[in-house]
Amino acid sequence: MTIWGDKPYYSLNYYLKELYGEKIYKIALDGGFTCPNRDGKIDTRGCIFCSSGGSGDFASSKSLSIYDQIEEGKKRLSSKKTGTKYIAYFQAYTNTYASIECLNSIYKQAISHPDIIGISIATRPDCLNNEVIKLLTSINKYKKVWIELGLQTIHPSSASFIRRGYELECFNEAVTKLNNCNIDIIVHLILGLPYESKKQILESVKYITSKKIQGIKLQLLHILKDTDLADYYTNNSFSILNMEDYIDTVISCIEIIPQNIVIHRITGDGPKKLLIAPLWSGNKKVVLNNIIKEFKIRDTWQGKYYVQAQ
Ligand code: SF4
Repeated sequence: MTIWGDKPYYSLNYYLKELYGEKIYKIALDGGFTCPNRDGKIDTRGCIFCSSGGSGDFASSKSLSIYDQIEEGKKRLSSKKTGTKYIAYFQAYTNTYASIECLNSIYKQAISHPDIIGISIATRPDCLNNEVIKLLTSINKYKKVWIELGLQTIHPSSASFIRRGYELECFNEAVTKLNNCNIDIIVHLILGLPYESKKQILESVKYITSKKIQGIKLQLLHILKDTDLADYYTNNSFSILNMEDYIDTVISCIEIIPQNIVIHRITGDGPKKLLIAPLWSGNKKVVLNNIIKEFKIRDTWQGKYYVQAQ
C-alpha cells in the first residue's frame, strides 16, 4: 500500500502541503453567478440533485464583497489548524457564466487578497468560451487556477436523468482547451446515481483518468431537501448506497486512479440540515475512518500491507 502522509491515496491535503509547504484550506465563495441550467438558457429546473444554493451551500453570502467573504471564511476556519494562505473557491452555481468584464472583476478581487494563493473555479464545460479561457490563462501566470468540471458521469442515460445538459464531447473539448493552456482540471463524479452500477461508475473513472486531468472529486450522491431528486426519491423506489457499498465502490475507484492524480474528495459534502438520504453520510468522520480501515483490511487480505510494511 502506498502511503502519502497519513492517507493511502494522493490527497488534496498532501498535494497542497507538497506544493506550498503548509496546510492550505479552500474558502467557498459566492460570486453571485447563476447557471444556464437554471436561468432558462438550457433548462430552468437545474440538475436534478442541485440544491437551491447551486451546490454552493457552504459559501458566504453573496451580499458581501469577495474580500469580506474571504475574511469571513478565514474567521470560520480559525478554530482549525491552518497555515497562512488560502484558495478562493468559487463554488456556487456556474462560476464562468457571466460577462468577461464581470468575471475579470470578481476573480481579481479574490486574487488581489494577500492571503489567497490561487483560485478554484467550479463550472460547466459548456461555459468555457475562448474569452474565458484567455482570462483564466492570464491569471494562471501569476496565481494558480484550477477548473472544476462537474461531469458526474460519462453515461448518456445517467447524464440525461440528472439533466446535466451537455454531451460528453463538450467535456472532452473543454479538457483539450484547458490542457492547451496548462490550466489544472479537477473532475467531479457522483457515486450512487440512480440506476448506475458499480461497473458503470468504474467506467467513468477509467474514462476521465485516461485524459490529462490533475484532480478528481468522488462524491456520494446526496438527496437534499427541496430538490427534484428528493421528489423523485419519494415517488420512485431506487436504491441508494449503504455505507458498506459506498466504501467498496470508492476504494475500487481509488485503486484504478493513476497515482499522479490528486484525489480531492472521497465523500459527499452536503449540508446536514438539507440531507434526506443517505443519513449515514452525515457523519463524515466515521465514513472517512471506515474507508481507511477497509483499505488496510483489503491490503492485508491481499498480503500487500505486510509485504510493504516489512
Ligand atoms: S450545473 Fe451546477 S449549478 Fe447548474 S444546475 Fe447543475 S449542479 Fe446546479
